[in-house]
Amino acid sequence: MSDRFRVARARMVERIRGKGLANETVLAAMGEIPRHLYVDPALELKAYGENALPIGWEQTLSHPEVVAFMTESLSLRPGLRILEIGTGSGYQAALLARLGASVRTIERIEGLLGTALEHWKADGFRGDIKARLGDGYLGWPEEGPFDRILLTASPREVPETLLRQLKEDGILLLPLATEEGQRMVRVRRGGDRAYREELGECSFVPMLARTVKG
Ligand code: SAH
Repeated sequence: MSDRFRVARARMVERIRGKGLANETVLAAMGEIPRHLYVDPALELKAYGENALPIGWEQTLSHPEVVAFMTESLSLRPGLRILEIGTGSGYQAALLARLGASVRTIERIEGLLGTALEHWKADGFRGDIKARLGDGYLGWPEEGPFDRILLTASPREVPETLLRQLKEDGILLLPLATEEGQRMVRVRRGGDRAYREELGECSFVPMLARTVKG
């Protein structure tokens, strides 16, 4: 791995640690991933800063603090099956895989899926990630049920189809669009019931249906 960015990455981790957003395991994994390889080369100097970055097709890679917080909110341990909706740059999926999860991820824009595959290759990491083009609202029933499902695009309601692909005691994490704005919501499934918890304000691109080819 080219380590021109070693210092920038260490500073990013220090910054996130200072805000108390994630545990040491998550921070160590973020300290290993070459985040600059997940953005356009023209933006690589900004890759470790506290900003969201454009990844094309009007989509964005969330800033490191948000990725750290979401990852922490999933209460991970190695070996979990995770479904991500919104592959984008592939960075979040790479982080989850590096933490020992089996990751399945769905993206609706074909071009973005292609760049995510290139980013994983450039990163050189061989984790358990499987990605496909599709409408995240439908989930990936053939690969489920999942211990965790996270949405990195914002829907207007909790998608029932995804809840059904969640294991008993699983966690669904999503930036839910409400009348007061977006809120990060954690839903735990317990039998036929779902328990919701609000974790704070957030700002994500909207979740859209219909795939985009080319
Ligand atoms: N997790 C990404 C961030 C992606 S931004 C990363 O680490 O870079 C959100 C992504 O959700 C965008 O790429 C957008 O195209 C995708 N998206 C929006 N609606 C979707 C849907 N219904 N199904 C799948 N992907 C969707």
